Amino acid sequence: MSIAPAPVTVIGAGLSGALVALLFARRGFTVTVYERRPDPRLEPSDAGRSINLALATRGLRALERAGLAEQVQPLLTPMRGRMVHGRDGTTSLLPYGQTAREVIYSVERDQLNTLLIDAADSHPNVSFRFRHACLGARPAEGALLIRDQQAEHGYEVALTATIATDGAGSAVRTSLAAAGYLNAREELLDHDYKELTIPAVDGAHAIERHALHVWPRGDYMLIALPNPSGTFTATLFMAKSGAQSFAALAAPAQVAQLFARDFADAAALMPNHVEQFAAHPQGIMGTVYCDRWHVGGQVLLLGDAAHAIVPFHGQGMNCAFEDCTALDRLLDDSVTWQELFARFAAERKPNADAIAAMALENYVEMRASVLDPAFVRQRQLGHALERSYPERFIPRYSMVMFHPEIGYRQAWERGQRQSEILQSLDAAGHTADSPAAKQLVEAKLSLLAGH
Ligand SMILES: Cc1cc2nc3c(=O)[nH]c(=O)nc-3n(C[C@H](O)[C@H](O)[C@H](O)COP(=O)(O)OP(=O)(O)OC[C@H]3O[C@@H](n4cnc5c(N)ncnc54)[C@H](O)[C@@H]3O)c2cc1C
Repeated sequence: MSIAPAPVTVIGAGLSGALVALLFARRGFTVTVYERRPDPRLEPSDAGRSINLALATRGLRALERAGLAEQVQPLLTPMRGRMVHGRDGTTSLLPYGQTAREVIYSVERDQLNTLLIDAADSHPNVSFRFRHACLGARPAEGALLIRDQQAEHGYEVALTATIATDGAGSAVRTSLAAAGYLNAREELLDHDYKELTIPAVDGAHAIERHALHVWPRGDYMLIALPNPSGTFTATLFMAKSGAQSFAALAAPAQVAQLFARDFADAAALMPNHVEQFAAHPQGIMGTVYCDRWHVGGQVLLLGDAAHAIVPFHGQGMNCAFEDCTALDRLLDDSVTWQELFARFAAERKPNADAIAAMALENYVEMRASVLDPAFVRQRQLGHALERSYPERFIPRYSMVMFHPEIGYRQAWERGQRQSEILQSLDAAGHTADSPAAKQLVEAKLSLLAGH
């Protein structure tokens, strides 16, 4: 027994909204999607915010489940590892994994979102209402408040089986919190980000195409992800205020000085970096902690609306896509919407909490730890342990990025134990093939299911 096909409302046609609409349509539900922005196929978003994203195995699995694996391939640029750029211009590649399969993919957000909207829109069960913003939900009255931005009038639709995928600043979440249905906390990071573009040279990539480039500088960092056009989208992450901060970069000369001192090789690739810096917006980042994700069977928060995270593990979209497939899978044996939403929240919340914590930790790893010889040694030791004990030891980064069969929560818990093993072996100078390594791995790590 499962829920009989019925009308479903989706709020937000972003990455997860378009995907969940398609998955439900394929099961026979009729889906109406309300999106605040204009149709991105007709009006592309502003330059300067066309972020590209890292897509990993969890996200790819979800696209496969929606039948989009082949269509998405041409949009993807494989990245084999982190290319670390020193201040002196030297580079070294830290591979992400150990096999040809263990790569992540750079994809442009707009292109991926358009592909998903196209796929959902071509299904007869889905209709989109662009420029229709949701103002909030009123469960007691069974109403969803919508505003047609073009006609400038508001109206109500029935709050039945609504999936709110309206992103980190979710109006649905805010309205439910204001009415006391849930408690939500948005914890902003005291660091912001700014995007810049590294142009193509004669249509080709100016630096190694198949890598995620990082300029780690301790308290801040620059990264760059490749685009199929030959450009890179670079992002500077830095404190909002303080000695080394965005606040200290108010004058063009200060920006030029920072790039000349810390990112000289990147600056040489971006002759107009000072102008770009002045012209592009400064973005904020944060984590959304929300104690309840649904109100009965009326409304469910999904994706960033339920659990936005900081971007340093490249998992926000991947996690949101995994949400979509989890909901789709749980439909199989849920009898009511209330049951479906409750089972979804129970399964996904511990995982979302775990990736939120790991994403925060990864900022330190990317901007500082990669410069620490002990970190680099332990990373190599981790890969060696994986080769010796693949059924027990998989580096945490690999579990998160390449092993969707291992949930985020499990990756986080095993990762803590693995970190203790690595520190203890490293401190004693033991190698992966030593008896001490065997003893510790077998004592602390159970066999992984299916390995
Ligand atoms: C700088 C940066 C880098 C990132 N890098 C990565 C990465 O490398 N890998 C990764 O996996 N994730 C990354 N992320 C995270 C990723 O962008 C999000 O997790 C992902 O977009 C979440 O998808 P979503 O569908 O939940 O929300 P969104 O994609 O934000 O979609 C929300 C949609 O709802 C619409 N909407 C908003 N309010 C309303 C309303 N009131 N009514 C109607 N519609 C509304 C919006 O217009 C939008 O279309 C990054 C995020 C940032 C900020």
